[in-house]
Amino acid sequence: TSALRVVGDDASSTAIPNDLQAFWMPFTANRSFKARPRMVARAKDMYYFTPEGKPILDATAGLWCSNAGHNRDPIVQAIQKQAAELDFSPSFQFGHPKAFELASRIAALAPNDLDHVFFCNSGSEAADTALKMAMAYWNARGKGAKTRLIGRERGYHGVGFGGISVGGIVPNRRFFGALLAGTDHLPHTYDREKQAFSKGEPEWGAHLADELERIVALHDAATIAAVMVEPMAGSTGVLPAPKGYLKRLREICDKHDILLIFDEVITGFGRLGAPFASERYGVTPDLLTFAKGVTNAAAPMGGVIARKHIHDAFMTGPDHIVELFHGYTYSAHPLACAAGLATLDLYRDEGLFEKSKAMEPIWADAVFDGLKDKPGVLDIRQVGLTAAIDIASWKDAPGKRAFVAMDKAFHDEGMMIRTSGDCLVVTPPLIMSESDAGQIVEKLARVIDATAMPA
Ligand code: PLP
Repeated sequence: TSALRVVGDDASSTAIPNDLQAFWMPFTANRSFKARPRMVARAKDMYYFTPEGKPILDATAGLWCSNAGHNRDPIVQAIQKQAAELDFSPSFQFGHPKAFELASRIAALAPNDLDHVFFCNSGSEAADTALKMAMAYWNARGKGAKTRLIGRERGYHGVGFGGISVGGIVPNRRFFGALLAGTDHLPHTYDREKQAFSKGEPEWGAHLADELERIVALHDAATIAAVMVEPMAGSTGVLPAPKGYLKRLREICDKHDILLIFDEVITGFGRLGAPFASERYGVTPDLLTFAKGVTNAAAPMGGVIARKHIHDAFMTGPDHIVELFHGYTYSAHPLACAAGLATLDLYRDEGLFEKSKAMEPIWADAVFDGLKDKPGVLDIRQVGLTAAIDIASWKDAPGKRAFVAMDKAFHDEGMMIRTSGDCLVVTPPLIMSESDAGQIVEKLARVIDATAMPA
């Protein structure tokens, strides 16, 4: 096969490799991507580089995951060394030291008695693992009728059947049959009229947690295993928890003996200026999922951190019996464990969680001052090092929504951003400098000017 194929018939046609067709890309409009690819071949720190060598400012930390920036030497070296030393070992019935070391390090970072770490390979696996753990916990406690799982509208917990059933993003659910039986959903926490242009956590909306009382009244707490929410709903376009909302949720869960699960796949490892959002909000869930930032995304890894009482409830039977019939071939994969340990060292040595916290007000001011008054901007939401900008409508691009802005940002501004409907989303690496923040906002401003329809 020849290496290049020319698509289109004019002089501006894009040369793309032939084998673009074989890769069925995830969560991607495959045909438009392949007609005009946004391709990166290398990365370092705040930048990606296209195959032609053009720098692309990474305003998304990859996919909310490369928190320390890209291709960081200590992580690269740790993976190389590990691959040469122990490429793989099973974690079913055998162990390797770095798995235990990483679990202890993560448990030490997590607040309160979130002390036991179960490893998997992604956020989706982490979500399904946490949901299964919650059900199995009640079973172990002799309350096997507690199987219902409560999520939230607009929630994203990956793409496993548990995660999409509890999740609340309509297109992620609607094509996939009956889903998991016995789920229900809290309302989402966004109201533009009440919250528009809030910096950080909106003042309005804590009372929405009380909807859990309605769900309990409907189903009876005796049937409900757990409630799962993201402390900041990321994939749906950055919906920070309203002030006091998570505390209310915790209180209602305690009152009715329902487990609370925080999905911290995005908010874990510094995105909100603390190791976990749980710490920022002073609310400890019973189970906490993580992924992404744990290895700085240099190797796939996810996991669930369980509080002591959850873990201990499983440890009561005969000691030769498997306590939880769940796990993955690649749970605690040695390459991921090595990457995770090097990543946690880097976060500590560079004080990246503290840096993220210190940068938050500077970032928020830059985004709000630079974009709030742009024609067509309906709202800006921000918490930690995230920002989402809602646009009313698009010039010359009916139906294409924010894709037009993402494409323009990449090709014309040399910047990677994400989209969610008509919303632009930026979540830069935590190593971002003030000048990087300024550049991101300037580029966004030009993209919005070029693509958004003035009201
Ligand atoms: N949970 C949350 C909150 C996420 O944001 C994501 C991914 O963005 C996931 C779960 C799924 O993670 P993964 O894509 O690694 O399966």
